[in-house]
Amino acid sequence: MTTHAQLAELARDAVAQACYVCRQVQRAQGEILRLIKDDNSPVSVADFASQAIIGHALRGALGKDVILVGEEDSATLRKDESSPLRDAVLAAVREVWPDCTEDDMLGAIDVGAGDTHHQAFWTLDPVDGTKGFLRNQQYAIALAFVERGAPVIGVLGCPNLARDFSAPLDEPDPHGTIYVAARGTGLWEYPADKPHEKGTEIKRVVHERDQPVSICASVEKAHSSEPAMDRVIEHLREQGVAIAEPTRLDSQAKYAVVARGQGDAYIRLPTKKGYVERIWDHAAGTIVASEGGAFVTDIFGHVLDFSTGRGLEKNKGIVCAPARLHGMIIEAIQSLELHRA
Ligand code: AMP
Ligand code: MG
Repeated sequence: MTTHAQLAELARDAVAQACYVCRQVQRAQGEILRLIKDDNSPVSVADFASQAIIGHALRGALGKDVILVGEEDSATLRKDESSPLRDAVLAAVREVWPDCTEDDMLGAIDVGAGDTHHQAFWTLDPVDGTKGFLRNQQYAIALAFVERGAPVIGVLGCPNLARDFSAPLDEPDPHGTIYVAARGTGLWEYPADKPHEKGTEIKRVVHERDQPVSICASVEKAHSSEPAMDRVIEHLREQGVAIAEPTRLDSQAKYAVVARGQGDAYIRLPTKKGYVERIWDHAAGTIVASEGGAFVTDIFGHVLDFSTGRGLEKNKGIVCAPARLHGMIIEAIQSLELHRA
């Protein structure tokens, strides 16, 4: 029997290795190799390398039957024309797995080909916020363990996120942070480059009523509706709530920023009718935020249901905030009927 605490430690160490490799890719000279996927989103050498490292680590510790649902797969990398990218991924992986062969690397990426039809599975976004990674701003390596439809362990590796709240969020920190949460045991912070240092338990600072509420939102305009956000802010202001201009950052680092009390809310309002959020974009963030003391639901106020496959089929959008503010945001969305749009 492996306990949740042991699984959390294993996940933290795997994510720390992936953080190191992503940072090496970022620091290497020259342009970061990338492709555009069928859904028009970019995938880079770091996305594949991160998934290979984490797939290898989980399989090594938990055996070949481990179930990992990863965002990426090796199909494109296996094509003849992908050989420059394939070579670059292998070189990146060898930073932490020196005797890895090309076949080992492709096989380790495909450890992530697990499906969700199990009582328990891992899910991974190897580089969440690839666009942020390519701008050398915020991105996250997001790994979660889901049991019976709910994330119970979440690790967010944020290689560019400073521990210090006064550091600008859009500039890369030289150390980065890792957040580790297991259900019922609180939220723990580690330096990303020294994951074996004693962790710090994060006690969320409760929002001071005289400070304007700080809302985190996506950088990418296609990922959350700005007109809808403006209406929510306007509505809250009419209720007498002071709201600051939203803070924009990529990836699930938004959940970490709220979990540690630097931000007050993370709001994601649908832009496209029928868009279904991906499980790996929210599983780790959800447990990190809730262990930090925030509520995470969709825009209806429903708990996120991770039992419906690779997408959150039963949910729409995201609202993450401490209880009172969470209630006010859901009330605003309902009064404006944005949940019906
Ligand atoms: P963010 O860092 O908040 O910009 O979110 C990044 C994630 O947005 C990516 O990992 C994508 O899976 C996801 N995404 C892609 N298209 C959309 C969309 N139309 N609406 C919401 N999320 C999206
Ligand atoms: Mg993502």
